[in-house]
Amino acid sequence: MTTFLDRLFDAGLLFETGVDGLYGRSGAFEDVIAAFERLIDRTGGTDGAEAIRFPPGMNRAFFEKSGYMKSFPQLAGTVHSFCGNELDHISLLKCMDAEEDWTKEQKATDIVLTPAACYPLYPTIAKRGPLPATGALFDLQSYCFRHEPSTDPARQQLFRMREYVCMGTESHVTDFRQLWMDRGTAMMQAVGLPVEIDVANDPFFGRAGKMLANNQRDQNLKFELLIPITSTEKPTACMSFNYHQDAFGTKWGLTLDNGAVAHTACVGFGLERIALALFHHHGLDVKTWPEAVRQTLWG
Ligand code: ATP
Ligand code: ZN
Repeated sequence: MTTFLDRLFDAGLLFETGVDGLYGRSGAFEDVIAAFERLIDRTGGTDGAEAIRFPPGMNRAFFEKSGYMKSFPQLAGTVHSFCGNELDHISLLKCMDAEEDWTKEQKATDIVLTPAACYPLYPTIAKRGPLPATGALFDLQSYCFRHEPSTDPARQQLFRMREYVCMGTESHVTDFRQLWMDRGTAMMQAVGLPVEIDVANDPFFGRAGKMLANNQRDQNLKFELLIPITSTEKPTACMSFNYHQDAFGTKWGLTLDNGAVAHTACVGFGLERIALALFHHHGLDVKTWPEAVRQTLWG
């Protein structure tokens, strides 16, 4: 049986690398992402967000402080490097020649792969000092890494997330989240994609994680916008809407100028998933997509 992933390879939209979840993208695939990002810009562009682009790696010290290894150790990716002398180099080459595990001698660098586009933002903004009472809004986009190899093209190991992050009072950031749930639904409808919004949880690790996940659900802290891509029974999360309460504000020392701890929320667009949803629903050749969809994306 040819899968959706096979068809994407055959159509030249994605390129195989030999690793599940790690693919090259064609110009046509990238053009869909670029067009969708312009739709995001048109939708959120007048909100006055400050745009920041971090590279796909972040400061390991910030990553450690974030608590990511407590919640999602199974997904994290760290950058290791050879830090030895010439003698160590000789044993490295010997080891590789013998096809033994040469990676054991690699040492952790100061960089880890970014797990979500907003992770580098909080410590960066905390350094600036208190936020205005009117809050703050940021526009981010980054490649993110998650160690979740899969043959589902919608579950990649390196993929892009476009995010808006809001910091302010509880009502300010929850209004922001609701606004983007409505906007996200309207945007997907405008490009002819069927959507459903549902409460969700993050994939917290282990038995203790089950409790964290249940708690997150019970408090409606995470919603996802779901679109069928590889399965109709289990549609794929193409956007997520997260309310962190004051957890990040407390962790990073984000305060408002009246001294109160900031609440934060983020909304994320899974750019590859949205492109894949468009290809799945409208066909692998963008020239044959419905005119209304093409009009929304390319004007
Ligand atoms: P899922 O439940 O499908 O694993 P998630 O809860 O891990 O998704 P988030 O952590 O909220 O997703 O990430 C934000 C957005 O990034 C998601 O809504 C999704 O669109 C996208 N995303 C998450 N994981 C992947 C992945 N492995 N490949 C491609 N896109 C992803
Ligand atoms: Zn996930």
